[in-house]
Amino acid sequence: YCGLVAIVGRPNVGKSTLLNKILGQKVSITSRKPQTTRHRIMGIDTEGAHQAIYVDTPGLHIEEKRAINRFMNRAASSSLDDVGLILFVVEGTRWTEDDQMVLNKIKQSGVECWLLVNKSDNVKDKAQLMPHLKWLAEQHNFTHIMPMSAKLGKNVTELRDMVQKQL
Ligand code: GDP
Ligand code: MG
Repeated sequence: YCGLVAIVGRPNVGKSTLLNKILGQKVSITSRKPQTTRHRIMGIDTEGAHQAIYVDTPGLHIEEKRAINRFMNRAASSSLDDVGLILFVVEGTRWTEDDQMVLNKIKQSGVECWLLVNKSDNVKDKAQLMPHLKWLAEQHNFTHIMPMSAKLGKNVTELRDMVQKQL
């Protein structure tokens, strides 16, 4: 059995770093052509009969006020339809308009979504994190909310195992 797992989030939240950690090697494929394909395959994680195909869905953070952006985004938006699980990556205690834009697309898709609060190592005052997690939890019915550090590998193995079990 194989499943399509989309790692989504605005640029620079750590999606590629996370995938490299999940796969344990630098195999993440990056493309110079944004928004020209529905998905960019980032990597395939096989364990026994289970195969998780991790994909990057670019362009979800782009504002659709301009007609050209709406046009460019159409493929990217609809591309969440064939996805079985969304991993929504956000950064520490930071929330921007681009994060909101991505969340709106996630809501529209109706696909199950887990929230990964990355760069937790950057949060100096851990007391800051709890109110932020509470606020995030109110924004959508996320199945799981996991603080993590892709860079330090914190919670990465746990996440990988959870995804494999979900397939
Ligand atoms: P992407 O654009 O979402 O794919 O983000 P990247 O994986 O390219 O990461 C963007 C930057 O954030 C890079 O400089 C990473 O080293 C850094 N980064 C990624 N994950 C973490 C993390 O858990 N902690 C910290 N401190 N930095 C991170
Ligand atoms: Mg990337």
